Amino acid sequence: MTSPIHRYEGRISIEPNSGCWLWIGATSSQGYGSIRVKGKARMAHRVIFELMRRKIPRKKDLDHLCRTRCCVNPDHLEPVTKSENNRRSTCWHVLVSRRSMILSEGLTR
Ligand SMILES: [Zn+2]
Repeated sequence: MTSPIHRYEGRISIEPNSGCWLWIGATSSQGYGSIRVKGKARMAHRVIFELMRRKIPRKKDLDHLCRTRCCVNPDHLEPVTKSENNRRSTCWHVLVSRRSMILSEGLTR
């Protein structure tokens, strides 16, 4: 049996440490993977998620739990509302800046 994403395999590179499926095909200006489906440009992570999991509810964003925009691993994606997605990305930026502060403090000691 051929997997539904078989035709996209050549455009996915699996990152062994994070488990991310990095999209190595075309990307949008925002860094998301891009696929043409029936002549229309679509975001690769949404297409792959729908092929392997389920239809994404209308008005929902797919949040990258791994924060890697070009990742198309359905295990790293979760449908969330736009406001939830925005809230999470804000939290992430806060976490990253805190973490880099901790790291740089650690280095100076
Ligand atoms: Zn990922």
